[in-house]
Amino acid sequence: MQDCIFCSIAAHKLQENYIIYENGRAMVIADRYPVNFGHLLVITRKHYENILEIDDDDLKSVIVLAKRYALLLKERLKPDGIKVLTNTGKAAGQAIMHIHFHIIPFYDEREDKEDLTYHYRMHKALTDDDLNKLKELLLS
Ligand SMILES: [Zn+2]
Repeated sequence: MQDCIFCSIAAHKLQENYIIYENGRAMVIADRYPVNFGHLLVITRKHYENILEIDDDDLKSVIVLAKRYALLLKERLKPDGIKVLTNTGKAAGQAIMHIHFHIIPFYDEREDKEDLTYHYRMHKALTDDDLNKLKELLLS
């Protein structure tokens, strides 16, 4: 679909360096405005607005990838909890009208926080350094 940022990423026309993984149906990308360090998105290659529209086989691919990358985040970033969610409709907080599942690691406040490779609630654009750090942690 024209002017859809996720369709452009899926077509390798945009933000190629944010792509963490891809297969024939879906992709895992780094969120450009992470809630926490390690915030990922799983998107479909094909355009669907949301979970109410998505084809079942594409949904299976997306949710299986969400599980796989939640496990990988747990192993590599050691979060205390992880949210896996999809917003459906503007009123529910959906900002980009192409289905995407968020995978967001959460961390308890801890004394050893400074020693860990995360930034609690960044809420700002992911820097190239953090993107590279994330890719190194997940892809090594
Ligand atoms: Zn799209």
